Amino acid sequence: MSTAPAIAPDAERLRRRLDAMARIGASAGGGVTRLALTEEDGRARDLLARWLHEIGLEVRMDAVGNLFGIRAGREDAPAVLVGSHLDTVVDGGRLDGSLGVLAALEAAQTLEERGIATRRPLAIVSFTNEEGVRFQPDMMGSLAFAGHLSVEQMRGAAADDGATAGECLQRIGYAGERAPGDLPVHAFLELHIEQGPLLERAGATIGVVEGVQGLSWTEIRLRGEANHAGTTPFDARHDAGLVAAEIVAFARALSRERGPGLRATAGSLRLAPGAVNIIPGEATLTVDLRHPEEASLAAAEEALERFAAERAAREGVAIAMQRLARTFPIRFDPTLVGLVEATAHRLGRTTLRLTSGAGHDAQILAACHPAAMVFVPSRGGRSHCPQEETAPADIAAGAAVLLQVVLQLAEAV
Ligand SMILES: [Zn+2]
Repeated sequence: MSTAPAIAPDAERLRRRLDAMARIGASAGGGVTRLALTEEDGRARDLLARWLHEIGLEVRMDAVGNLFGIRAGREDAPAVLVGSHLDTVVDGGRLDGSLGVLAALEAAQTLEERGIATRRPLAIVSFTNEEGVRFQPDMMGSLAFAGHLSVEQMRGAAADDGATAGECLQRIGYAGERAPGDLPVHAFLELHIEQGPLLERAGATIGVVEGVQGLSWTEIRLRGEANHAGTTPFDARHDAGLVAAEIVAFARALSRERGPGLRATAGSLRLAPGAVNIIPGEATLTVDLRHPEEASLAAAEEALERFAAERAAREGVAIAMQRLARTFPIRFDPTLVGLVEATAHRLGRTTLRLTSGAGHDAQILAACHPAAMVFVPSRGGRSHCPQEETAPADIAAGAAVLLQVVLQLAEAV
């Protein structure tokens, strides 16, 4: 049995804002390309800052470009922090990240319009560079906020085009002065699309996220010898491309062998010189490993490294491996997780407890503050692509659960 909530967010306003945000960096096929710290990211921040100002929040930015809107509480207590990120992958979807930021904004505006003062301050946040496409590591803003990455490290990160994150922050006007983390936090909440098919398969509206699986990104550089495709005997070849291809296939085999928890993906592969009649002299590829258990993730890393080294040695190819990113599996605060679940049930929503397959800012915050996430279904389980979609009713349901959880946390002693 469900009872209607006393207050609900304005789903139509949220939809309009999601549409407006999706126009910044919109691609022809309906996707969005808004890489971190680009001009498009700057425009997205400008739009968010304008909305924050319009509803009377205090707009702040820190030294790594995390953008905040603060709504004061009745007491000067640690804040309930709510948000996500505005950057996207290349030709990504319109909801990944934006939904969490704009639903948080909607929650603040709803409280504002109803004249509801909360005991604790409410802080809306958009974290810098969650996706990690242009600058590594990913989740850069939340890492700095949690004290795991220094401002110097963040600003020194370089993109492929040679620009540093610090230069780009300056250029778009979001190099704040405040030290990251200079905001006492009571709890962190993030609404996000699931980016997988589990909710849809279960016919559930609200995902109660219990944790996030660990992630390990490795870049593998192989240096063999470019040579003539027609004249070089096989026993004289040092084919970097062949070794790279074996690693790609190994990633899938490893997932099959050690599944279902393990997901291994070789997502990028470049061969040089990259011509039809030349044995590849160089290859660079990346492998993304994920697992909900730390021991299994570490074992998969070791297996990958052993295999790659062995195949490179066999082909007479030099190999260098570099870890691009590494996060430990985390479990969210059980009390907060329970609160999300109970709130969703109170609003008459069906729920499913799950572990996030994707990385999120909330997992970084979880290391130092109670944190939790609310998921809504992704149509067809699709994300990081233009087809990324969530039914409007599900978006409204997620925003309503978020608002009610925020309200309870903001009043909690
Ligand atoms: Zn995201």
